[in-house]
Amino acid sequence: MRAFKAHLRGLAPYPYKKEEAPVKLDQNESPLDLPGGLKEEALRRMARLPWNRYPEIHAEGLRRRLSALLDWPEEGIVLAPGSNLLILALSLAAEEVLDLVPSFPHYAHAAKVAGTPYRAVPLLEGFALPLEALLSAFTGGVLFLPNPHAPTGALFPEEALWGLAERAKEVEGLLVVDEAYREFAGTDFSFLARQNPHVALLRTFSKAFALGGIRAGYLLASPEVAGVVREVLPPFVLPAHTAAILEVVLENPGYVEKGVALVRAERERVYGELLRHPTWRPYPSRTNFLLVKTPDAEEAFRHLLARGVLVRRQDRYPGLEGCLRVTIGRKEEMDAFLRAAFGVAYA
Ligand SMILES: *Cc1c(COP(=O)(O)O)cnc(C)c1O
Repeated sequence: MRAFKAHLRGLAPYPYKKEEAPVKLDQNESPLDLPGGLKEEALRRMARLPWNRYPEIHAEGLRRRLSALLDWPEEGIVLAPGSNLLILALSLAAEEVLDLVPSFPHYAHAAKVAGTPYRAVPLLEGFALPLEALLSAFTGGVLFLPNPHAPTGALFPEEALWGLAERAKEVEGLLVVDEAYREFAGTDFSFLARQNPHVALLRTFSKAFALGGIRAGYLLASPEVAGVVREVLPPFVLPAHTAAILEVVLENPGYVEKGVALVRAERERVYGELLRHPTWRPYPSRTNFLLVKTPDAEEAFRHLLARGVLVRRQDRYPGLEGCLRVTIGRKEEMDAFLRAAFGVAYA
């Protein structure tokens, strides 16, 4: 095959395999769907749209709304069908991608697809941020930093992020703080990016906003950075129906807090229960999932699946030997998980 660039040969597929199970705790989705009334309102607005017409070129209406809600300049906002696409656009634009290991696998995958030079710095003991190593490795390019971190669930300290933001300015690189799980941690790192054009934030509607199926996320950045990302993406990239749905949820965001409160309460309950497990060990989490160390991830995964509970294996990542990732769902779902998990000990 001579059609494609050599670096795309042997590209590993994204590590996801679909499995069916009654209790689905494998993709960090919201356990609750969007409230029915909001869905109906979104459908009414979609029906009123002219489907023969292109949407706005850069989602101007939504950017105006987000700008007012977040007090962020409109020119510094980029909307896309999923923050994964923003990660790809940033990786295409980047001189180099700097990553952590383990981390969200799409950063490495996007850099590889883009053919962008890539380096990763390992997390320290206890999943701590390797600040010194990152400061010296960060010599330009784009550093992707999920905070709270995926897939460990840890929240990195603010002081460390200040240091990285300063370093980004010094080397004229870009620190991208991926805030996919911020609602579950109650954090907001926009203060870092307001004064420093070398910091950008990624946010998604896929987790706390319960819109994983809709595909939408946004970047908050300086007008200069946002301008490059907008031009790397194709024009008219955000579909009109997606924009209509986002308008409705931004006008009625009350449901988000309810879902987040439920997830946080279940997360703490399940964490506490797992501390009593004879062989499994949960790590503290500020997200909507728990990372759990088991003596044998494959066996634990199969045991849970045989009892109708689907989780995600993480044991192929360096430093995560034996680990499973369990999305926090509704109480009944977590009861089913706990019953199955404690069944392991006596099996
Ligand atoms: C889930 C997740 C996202 C969301 O990606 P979308 O494409 O917006 O669904 C982004 N970053 C991290 C770290 C995630 O875990």
